[in-house]
Amino acid sequence: MVKVVSVLIPVYNEELVLLKLYKRLADVAKKNNKYRFEFLFVNDGSRDKSLEIIKDMKKSDNRVAYIDLSRNYGKEVAMIAGLDHVDSDATIVIDADLQDPPELITEMIRHWEDGYDDVYARRTERAGESWLRRKTSSVFYRVLQHSTEIPIQRDAGDFRLLDKKCVMAIRQFRERERYTKGIFSWIGYRKKEITYVRQPRVSGKSKWSYLKLVNLAINGIISFTTAPLRASTIIGLVVSLIAFIYILFLVIRTMLFGVDVAGYPSIMAVVLFLGGVQLISLGIIGEYISRIYNETKQRPLYLVDEYHESKVKK
Ligand code: UDP
Ligand code: MG
Repeated sequence: MVKVVSVLIPVYNEELVLLKLYKRLADVAKKNNKYRFEFLFVNDGSRDKSLEIIKDMKKSDNRVAYIDLSRNYGKEVAMIAGLDHVDSDATIVIDADLQDPPELITEMIRHWEDGYDDVYARRTERAGESWLRRKTSSVFYRVLQHSTEIPIQRDAGDFRLLDKKCVMAIRQFRERERYTKGIFSWIGYRKKEITYVRQPRVSGKSKWSYLKLVNLAINGIISFTTAPLRASTIIGLVVSLIAFIYILFLVIRTMLFGVDVAGYPSIMAVVLFLGGVQLISLGIIGEYISRIYNETKQRPLYLVDEYHESKVKK
């Protein structure tokens, strides 16, 4: 039996690079002609000509498949939409913007044949990213790792090969607030890391503003662990303990030396500090409650407008 390998490409306004990407993918497929390749484009509500380009590709190449989502849902959802539709021995998730070199697929397949289930690419250098962005990302990974016992793959993006069993596993994760990197870590299985230098975008621009990244980081932590709740409990305990000691100190001092009224600044400082701590704790609780609210609605993760299969025999 010839094995089928699907390449899953989330696409959002990528008209400028799609053809270049397609060409490089086709070259990779030619090199690995032991396998049947399928190129599954997930059009995540692009507002440019991306969908037309994909449709044109499909006309001339029966390995091309596409899902057209009803609107823009974000990359995380586009990925699960794709994973829900593949039916192949291995699936490779790759960005459309050529920041992930398609040529690595050959190496990924080799490790997969060696028995690994999840071959992920770790970027060693981040070409074209600012110092601030690298620094925040490093802090983020450290916080995330400290808050959980599941090993987190640092700097591993979504560019990876997933064996069928990983795909089946990930399909069972129906949470709406998706943090796919966390899911990849959670599922376990035999992981293999390969490294590469992440390229700057070929053209177009990243859809991630700085604010969006911060949001993603908070999302990542909140949807992955409840450690922040524990942290606010601990902060509460520590502050109460300090306050208790301070009360004892005040009582004893008053008994020994009598009352003295001064101390307005220190009261203000304590009140404001505690007010801040309480608000932050409330905010943290709120984050989790909003997640509970969104999950209980049980909405579908995405809606498909059109789905056209490839003609690759499975
Ligand atoms: N993408 C998507 N939906 C979105 C935003 C991005 O499907 O709402 C796709 C995009 O087309 C690309 C990949 O996700 O293939 C990564 O996006 P981007 O290059 O903007 O992210 P970065 O490389 O900066 O992490
Ligand atoms: Mg990119």
